[in-house]
Amino acid sequence: MSKARTVRAARGTTLSAKGWQQEAALRMFHNNLDPEVAEHPEDLVVYGGTGKAARDWRSFDRITASLRDLEGDETLLVQSGRPVGIMRTHEWAPRVLIANSNLVGDWANWPEFRRLEAEGLTMYGQMTAGSWIYIGTQGILQGTYETFAAVAAKRFGGSLAGTITLTAGLGGMGGAQPLAVTMNDGVAIVVECDGSRIDRRIEHRYLDVRADGLDEALELAVRARDERRPLSIGVLGNAAEVFPELLSRGAPIDIVTDQTSAHDPLAYLPLGVPFGDWKDLAAAKPEEFTLRARESMAAHVEAMVGFQDAGAEVFDYGNSIRDEAREGGFTRAFDFPGFVPAYIRPLFCEGKGPFRWAALSGDPADIARTDQAVLDLFPENEHLARWIRMARERVAFQGLPARICWLGQGERAAAGQRFNELVASGEISAPLAIGRDHLDTGSVASPYRETEGMRDGSDAIADWPLLNALVNTSSGASWVSIHHGGGVGMGRSLHAGQVSVADGTDLAAAKLDRVLTNDPAMGVIRHVDAGYEKAERVAETHGIRVPMREG
Ligand code: NAD
Repeated sequence: MSKARTVRAARGTTLSAKGWQQEAALRMFHNNLDPEVAEHPEDLVVYGGTGKAARDWRSFDRITASLRDLEGDETLLVQSGRPVGIMRTHEWAPRVLIANSNLVGDWANWPEFRRLEAEGLTMYGQMTAGSWIYIGTQGILQGTYETFAAVAAKRFGGSLAGTITLTAGLGGMGGAQPLAVTMNDGVAIVVECDGSRIDRRIEHRYLDVRADGLDEALELAVRARDERRPLSIGVLGNAAEVFPELLSRGAPIDIVTDQTSAHDPLAYLPLGVPFGDWKDLAAAKPEEFTLRARESMAAHVEAMVGFQDAGAEVFDYGNSIRDEAREGGFTRAFDFPGFVPAYIRPLFCEGKGPFRWAALSGDPADIARTDQAVLDLFPENEHLARWIRMARERVAFQGLPARICWLGQGERAAAGQRFNELVASGEISAPLAIGRDHLDTGSVASPYRETEGMRDGSDAIADWPLLNALVNTSSGASWVSIHHGGGVGMGRSLHAGQVSVADGTDLAAAKLDRVLTNDPAMGVIRHVDAGYEKAERVAETHGIRVPMREG
């Protein structure tokens, strides 16, 4: 067994693989485990509780060696973080096909998953951890910013200035919350039980200050709110204790959500368990720990509902805490909505979702060039321009420089073409890896999140993500993945991802055009099928064919 070591993606234009498609997969795989990027790289954990990039260090080594050795007409197969085969395919085929954490329906639960994981037979891939397109906390930042912007538009006259948001969790994804709130000019109090995560977010400029206890947190928050000054405050504590405490004090909270790792009861710290005992206790007594975590989540969610009763805007931010709280005995857990039906679905109807790209050169100047390209491509989109300008100013890169922005049908293909031209002309110094989150318009079935409350009741239909992976495989993506359980945990989601490499060649241009057209189009047709008129209009505008609407 090889030992843990520090991993960092190669930079520059010297290849250690046999082509840029393979080199891109290799660099993005390694980038996921860069200590600047991954939350717990020593355990191969990238983010989202236990979301891993490879099953173990031996698999890490064999994936690395396989990608270096892979020909341009071969495909590497990865089964839950372990390389299991290399097959002769063709140059339009993906260089890597990945299936992570998939279990047959009746077996798709945490205890069975953990049994198999302990046997060394599987790993948890989350969404972008096991599919090698995690770009650090920025990856969720724009989605979180858009969500809070939608809250501001719905309830607070278009800005969060003069409001206080209460949330919890400063992990890989949750760490985006404070910056997303302050980008919307609001004040955030974020409860986190791991002091090192608070410090990490301050270091990465996602969080402004750490309060010394709840009294100081409230004092700072109220002062900033009254001055309509954006401020984010981290406070050490257990959300299951702090949320009810703030409620009983009548704290002036306007918005409440949560992003602890509630999807996995072993990754949520129950009340009464000292932080230092967490991992040992969870490993020694997983069933007892699960019960205790769910009871605590019930208290946590009960307080969220209490804030809602008192008039606050409350939503679930995609971690399945409502269902865990229901399991923990709280019957009103679903009294507040998930963020997708509340704010995001109209964007999904337009094929809009978290488009992202990374500069394989490692040179921030390449991302600056792409930022400018996006501003030039969509000059009429002031909202997008505001985002790009803020991201340029306020987002610190983690690992390979990268950018995210939500683009829709037609826009993604246009951006892909432009990026490929910039690589071809040498204005960008090395190829770009262009991908997205699995949380996207047509790539996921997740009834407590992306597909909650679909108009036709099709929330749990999981044919869509499978078709999405097949479409991307058929269209020329560089690597394609199918995962289970991301975001919301075992048994609750199926989802797919793709990454395509802009290496400046004509072949890449042809592939990018198809992938970046067909991938979001899956979202448009999924929403047309479910009866959303907006999606019908988008399909018509973009010539997306839907046979059931023809003839
Ligand atoms: P993470 O594991 O990196 O971080 C979770 C944090 O929660 C940790 O820092 C942990 O210490 C803290 N925590 C756990 N129990 C706590 C408690 N009782 N009180 C206070 N803090 C506690 O996970 P992450 O990557 O930040 O993801 C968080 C959740 O969001 C996961 O459930 C993930 O599946 C979900 N998620 C949502 C979206 C979205 O778009 N909304 C996207 C990706 C992931």
